[in-house]
Amino acid sequence: MSGPPPSKVFVITGPSGVGKGSLISLLRHRIPELELSTSATTRKPRTGEQQGVDYHFLDEREFLDRVERGEFLEHAAYSGNHYGTLRSEVEGRVEAGHPVVLEIEVQGARQVAASMPEAVQIFIAPPELSTLKLRLEGRGTDSPDAIARRLEVAEEELAARDEFHHQVVNDELERALDELEAIVRSKLSESR
Ligand code: ADP
Ligand code: 5GP
Repeated sequence: MSGPPPSKVFVITGPSGVGKGSLISLLRHRIPELELSTSATTRKPRTGEQQGVDYHFLDEREFLDRVERGEFLEHAAYSGNHYGTLRSEVEGRVEAGHPVVLEIEVQGARQVAASMPEAVQIFIAPPELSTLKLRLEGRGTDSPDAIARRLEVAEEELAARDEFHHQVVNDELERALDELEAIVRSKLSESR
């Protein structure tokens, strides 16, 4: 057979509050071989978030220095902070044949689609725009101002949903998880 081997990079994108983190955490219980790329960000840690576990928390200068040094596979400014995927989180795993999941916003997902077209792109959508506000309020991690900023961006992000290979509507968590799991298992079996 010729051509590149099928990728095992899964890009999970969609607006803040849609349930990406919840779905990925449950998905990793069902498919433990999936490894999660830990992103870098200049956002301040939320209560309970741990350095190197939830994110690599960097100050702005270090983040931008690492951008200059070409250390990021993708990066974006989002809601007043920088976020990005370090190449070191992805490349070694791909070379070792391990499947990797990236949980990133839409601008970053577009960059990965351009530089790694074989990556599987999955957009998580809410049943209604208004669901996002309720979920962000219910999560209780962001101030009303931060929630308002995230919702402004969400409208643009939702308009981009058709750009991605797969869309999963996170209406009921278990149902959406089943759909996401089916997509991921089908891609993993193609690459075996
Ligand atoms: P994201 O990672 O996309 O920002 P989260 O996974 O943090 O979103 O989910 C945002 C909030 O919505 C959390 O409080 C989570 O428990 C809740 N949530 C996620 N999926 C659902 C769902 N299908 N139905 C109801 N609440 C949900
Ligand atoms: P939060 O501040 O809620 O943790 O994340 C805000 C947004 O940034 C979310 O949509 C999340 O998916 C996205 N994000 C997290 N890590 C990355 C990353 O490495 N790159 C990009 N482009 N977005 C990210």
